[in-house]
Amino acid sequence: MIQFLRRSHTLSSSNFKLGRFGFASRAASLPQQTYGNVGGDVDEYADVEWDKIGFGAIPTDYMYVMKCCKDHDFEHGQLNPYANIQISPAAGVLNYGQGVYEGTKAQRRSDGRVLLFRPDQNAIRMREGAHRLCMPAPSTNQFLHALKQTVLANKRWIPPPGKGSLYIRPMLIGSGPILGLAPSPEYTFLIYASPVRNYFKEGIAALNLYVEEEYDRASPGGAGGVKSITNYAPVLKAIIRAKNRGFSDVLYLDSVNKKYLEEVSSCNIFIVKGNVISTPPTAGTILPGITRKSIIEIARDHGYKVEERGVMVDELSEADEVFCTGTAVGVAPVGSITYKNQRMEFRVGDESTCSRLYSTLVGIQTGIIEDKKGWTVEVV
Ligand SMILES: *Cc1c(COP(=O)(O)O)cnc(C)c1O
Repeated sequence: MIQFLRRSHTLSSSNFKLGRFGFASRAASLPQQTYGNVGGDVDEYADVEWDKIGFGAIPTDYMYVMKCCKDHDFEHGQLNPYANIQISPAAGVLNYGQGVYEGTKAQRRSDGRVLLFRPDQNAIRMREGAHRLCMPAPSTNQFLHALKQTVLANKRWIPPPGKGSLYIRPMLIGSGPILGLAPSPEYTFLIYASPVRNYFKEGIAALNLYVEEEYDRASPGGAGGVKSITNYAPVLKAIIRAKNRGFSDVLYLDSVNKKYLEEVSSCNIFIVKGNVISTPPTAGTILPGITRKSIIEIARDHGYKVEERGVMVDELSEADEVFCTGTAVGVAPVGSITYKNQRMEFRVGDESTCSRLYSTLVGIQTGIIEDKKGWTVEVV
């Protein structure tokens, strides 16, 4: 990973480029900002080549930090300049993986207004994860307040309409020292943000998935149903192996029967057959995606019959279409799935169900389509 040297005087904004991020820092030449005058007075946009950003972490101006002790509630948080954090080597998160995260996006509308998409759902999901990992969590109001402050303080990093969005990463970690295996004595709630490009930059790139048979993502009674940080490093091996074989990502099967579809590494899966859309139920081993939940509703509005049920891997050979949903990808078409050396292909393109659902979702998220569901929240 590249280390960005923010506020370094050695970076020149004119021809400085880093990898595929196309990020150039001019922070050194900006006046010292305090929260309150950001996002308007200073510079409407950060000095970024918006057409060249990717999915790498680009440091922005501020992060939100709030701490509390075990058996207490979170009370006051604050915006700090984005920087490395100090943490005890004995922190619960470092030693025992006591941590959950969230992911959501802020979009800039063409009229300049800034929208969040169902952020209350992220607050609720973080609380559920915190409960599972024995951590206190911020209230929904605290979470929303912190999210909005983080977005406003980093407003100049929200890409222009059509160029992408500001990805926001709230996390909750056991930051206090604990040597024996027990809940941490102190917790830190932190939010940072990074601009990301639109997933579909040049048309819709279909995913080619590989069905994993050796490694499981989650098992009944485990933590697969919450965004626990412990769920992700164990699947890196499967992801790397699939990518080395030319696939985009991994499709996991249930760990008990190795027969039912679960999900992809960081998105949920749907299959389409005729007018029926099916997706595995969220019963503890699958992450209950907010995009998943929204797409189920949008699909029903479009007249599709949506079933949440066990979907057998064998059903793939009969499917017309397969697609994935998640905050990062939106709604991503799956062009092929390879299972036991057999490659199955699916319909993709402008006329697909996936494309129709994607347009409606993104339309609502970016304010192009009227939000009749009360899903978007304006940040002011
Ligand atoms: C975050 C995540 C998803 C998608 O959830 P969204 O709320 O739609 O972003 C799906 N699966 C896994 C494993 C995830 O971590």
